Amino acid sequence: MTKPLNILFIASESVPFVKTGGLADVVGALPAVMASLGHNVMVVLPKYGDIDQHRYPMERYFHHLGVWMGDTEEWCAVDRLINTQAFPVYFIEFDRYFKRPGLYHDSDYNDFADNPRRFAFFSRAALQLCIDMGFNADIIHLHDWQTAPAAAYQKIWHWNNPIIGKAATLLTIHNVQYQGIYPAWHLDYCGFQMENYTPDKFEDNGRMNFLKGGITFADFVNTVSPNYAHEISLPGHPSGMAPYLTAKADRFSGILNGVDYQEWNPAIDPRIPATFSADDLSGKIICKQELQRSFYLEIDPDIPLIGVISRFADQKGLDLLAQAIEAIVTDMRVQFVILGSGNPDLEGFFGELPARYPGKIGSYIGFNNDLAHRIEAGSDFFLMPSRYEPCGLNQIYSLKYGTLPIVRATGGLLDTVEQYNEMTGHGTGFIFWEPSADSIYFTTGWAVSTYYDRKSHIERLIQNAMTQDFSWKKSAGNYLDAYISAMEYHKGLK
Ligand code: ADP
Repeated sequence: MTKPLNILFIASESVPFVKTGGLADVVGALPAVMASLGHNVMVVLPKYGDIDQHRYPMERYFHHLGVWMGDTEEWCAVDRLINTQAFPVYFIEFDRYFKRPGLYHDSDYNDFADNPRRFAFFSRAALQLCIDMGFNADIIHLHDWQTAPAAAYQKIWHWNNPIIGKAATLLTIHNVQYQGIYPAWHLDYCGFQMENYTPDKFEDNGRMNFLKGGITFADFVNTVSPNYAHEISLPGHPSGMAPYLTAKADRFSGILNGVDYQEWNPAIDPRIPATFSADDLSGKIICKQELQRSFYLEIDPDIPLIGVISRFADQKGLDLLAQAIEAIVTDMRVQFVILGSGNPDLEGFFGELPARYPGKIGSYIGFNNDLAHRIEAGSDFFLMPSRYEPCGLNQIYSLKYGTLPIVRATGGLLDTVEQYNEMTGHGTGFIFWEPSADSIYFTTGWAVSTYYDRKSHIERLIQNAMTQDFSWKKSAGNYLDAYISAMEYHKGLK
């Protein structure tokens, strides 16, 4: 191994404390893997009101941490998780910004108006914490627009700081569509002078774009799958980030997310009714039966059951599923269990479907991790009709649970699912290209008819799927390479 690195993770969410999406899974897993490889790791998160402090007890670490935001010095406190992990986790406590329900928006999905201030402050506070505690970071690993400003702060304000001035910054883009674009009048508070408000840095059509500034200032940028890295670099990609990413093409890569097989492994999963493995699938039959029972579906091991777990956001293509699902359950002998929340229209639509198609469709509107495990374990297929998908985790979990993914050919879905070959029985799932209700209908039909007519192929696909390995070990190696490249660039060696 190379010499142990000091790695500072700054992120806006992490399992098990708070989670809205895949970013939290990554930040929950990667630091632990790095620590297990002998690196010195610390993680900094905001102390949101939503964090359950009974479950995750904390102790006061700093009573007063002064953080300069423009001309204002804000005073916050820092708590540390009473340690259950191999590395410390710190929480920035600043009630004005974080002690409210929700992470980024209110219960009506309205973005908090002070988000630029909240996350600029958090980014700066995390760096200040690192300085005040004397953590000589080699690498500062940032995640998405919320902490992208830290890449700029480190270069603009702390470049000669003895503690963090030498640190290299890596910015991981988990979803390029979320950029943190806000009115320019926040610039002063955020501490970026006009010289940084230029089109190659934070300025974006008269507004301030956090992600873009982060891309420019970071020493290395990555996103969460090779195929998504390719897609978002293509000229004309709707995110508008392609020119800035191609400008640093030699310092931009796609690194597939790993998954936490301690958490998502049917052989040891305590959340599912019966465990199972590729060698013994009898537990999966029990899981399916329990899932059918709990959603009042017809209990029959021979009816294919399709699981869906998703945010109801435009990205996920569930509006397309909404257009196709009634025809699917009318024309085919198939069942659905849908878990998700988000868009209120889709919540209403999917929430009412079980009453309209009793015995065929079950749904649960909300966020429920235990249920997510039970759906992965009890379904035969897992549908992800995403318009775009930076990496996607659920299809990877599905593979491990022998639940064959039906996915659109986009982003990380294409990197992780291999198309079923009818001639040979090779592959791990069913892939379609067009983001349309018709494609969902016909590809689901293909999967369902394979289920009924080619049992031996389905068995083979399940074996193929369950033996895929997307553990963090491989991804961690790729991240270490990215850290080294970032450090070399920062030192002027590249
Ligand atoms: P994204 O980060 O875009 O939402 P990913 O597939 O990368 O999509 O990760 C989603 C994660 O969130 C998975 O771990 C998935 O199981 C979980 N998830 C999404 N919606 C729900 C829900 N309603 N209840 C429980 N878990 C959910």
